[in-house]
Amino acid sequence: MTLKCQPNASHFINGAYVEDTAGKPIDCFYPATGEKVAQLYSATPAIIDAALSAAQAAQKQWAKTAPVERGRVLRRAADIIRARNQELSVLETYDTGKPLQETLYVDATSAADALEYFGGLIASVTGEHIPLGDNWAYTKRIPLGVCVGIGAWNYPTQISCWKGAPALACGNSMVFKPSEMTPLCALKIAEIFIEAGAPAGLYNVVQGYGDVGGALVSDPRVDKVSLTGSAETGKKVYAAAAANMKHATMELGGKSPLIIFDDADVENAIGGALLANMYSTGQVCSNGTRVFVQKGIKEAFLKRLSERTEAIKVGDPMDEETQFGPMVSKGQRDIVMSYVAKGIDEGARLVTGGHVIEGEGYFIQPTIFADVTDTMTIAREEIFGPVMSVFEFETEEEVIARANDTELGLAAGVFTNDFTRAHRVIDALDAGTCYINSYNDAPVEAPFGGVKGSGIGRENSKAAIEHYSQLKTVYVGMGSVDSPY
Ligand code: NAD
Repeated sequence: MTLKCQPNASHFINGAYVEDTAGKPIDCFYPATGEKVAQLYSATPAIIDAALSAAQAAQKQWAKTAPVERGRVLRRAADIIRARNQELSVLETYDTGKPLQETLYVDATSAADALEYFGGLIASVTGEHIPLGDNWAYTKRIPLGVCVGIGAWNYPTQISCWKGAPALACGNSMVFKPSEMTPLCALKIAEIFIEAGAPAGLYNVVQGYGDVGGALVSDPRVDKVSLTGSAETGKKVYAAAAANMKHATMELGGKSPLIIFDDADVENAIGGALLANMYSTGQVCSNGTRVFVQKGIKEAFLKRLSERTEAIKVGDPMDEETQFGPMVSKGQRDIVMSYVAKGIDEGARLVTGGHVIEGEGYFIQPTIFADVTDTMTIAREEIFGPVMSVFEFETEEEVIARANDTELGLAAGVFTNDFTRAHRVIDALDAGTCYINSYNDAPVEAPFGGVKGSGIGRENSKAAIEHYSQLKTVYVGMGSVDSPY
């Protein structure tokens, strides 16, 4: 029987699909129905070796290619992605379960944005001339070498290009390992790079579980590791990279605060809070899952919030009217439901949702808790599902202290119409990516990333160039050497 989304093979190495069925099986299920849609295999040591060798060989030539030509390849890949958006979005929906209403607008399109941005930028990235009297020095921005990208399962197409685009633009090659939960989309991106004129071996995809990620990170051929994943995995990967002095970017989890003052436009703030918790069925790292609402408006806020939450259209992700799909997997659904049970046990008030939706697939209801206190498990741990916790606060000083009382610091948001307060509060929040009267925008032009336990480095924007290149300083003596010997 042919499976609906079966790729030609599990891995894409040196410009071609490659299979090795000796690897541990990776079964792909469509989260909306539980139907098996593809059968892949985790990379064996031979596959990992082939991918890294191909990447190492391709990088040497690519680094010598003029930046403007590298950029052209990336921009051609962006054009192909845009032309195939429908097909790529459907695949993203099969891979993740996210509704087409989202995938048609934010997945392949944001991958294309990254390729256009870095493809356009790279020819203008130059070094410096440093005058030193008679002598002088200059700097060059040079590639790092072979980069490994390791992805999470919530945005498989986007993550593959948020890492791939700046890496390739800067003259590096990449071996990308998607999450074992969503292995399909990155293979298409690897195909598209070849179609766009990238040399074979420049962008390779290998499948696998954490052990494959671990083998990639510790291989001496690898110069840089960029992980999108949980804080726990981040600590392991960062330590493994540090052991061999490799460059590292860590895009990890969050438990971000969203603060709503009583002077805010409440309808707008509810829209923001819903975007910050329900988009992609709550599987977004920067989600504002701790929603602090000022006392005077809290009950009115909750009433309208639950009306709007109950109106969310849950259902078939392939129907473009659907606003909310299933969880990525049965396992993730069970994890989220265990947090819901903990919330109830520990005394939070369930305002709406809180149940599995019976039937096919891994659906759960959009869920809101009120009367959450700062010490409850749902207030402290990243749930990574559609579970919003609403807290009450009275003063600005109090809410800032409570918002910052977490080891994580990916994002933070404020809704208020007092613009001096907006900036003052944002200034005081420990977070890398902040929003005022908005939430969860992630345009390629602006840096994205966290502070504290949420990671190091930045993706997107000019800042990413520094994380995929390094400086070489050249000192030039114009006269005789001034030697005392
Ligand atoms: P995860 O940490 O379980 O896995 C992430 C990736 O790391 C997977 O590809 C996995 O196979 C790999 N991996 C696991 N152990 C490894 C090891 N020891 N060495 C190398 N690789 C290893 O995360 P997940 O469940 O796939 O994704 C959800 C998490 O990702 C959440 O915490 C979420 O907040 C975070 N996330 C962060 C961002 C961001 O940009 N900051 C974006 C999306 C998701």
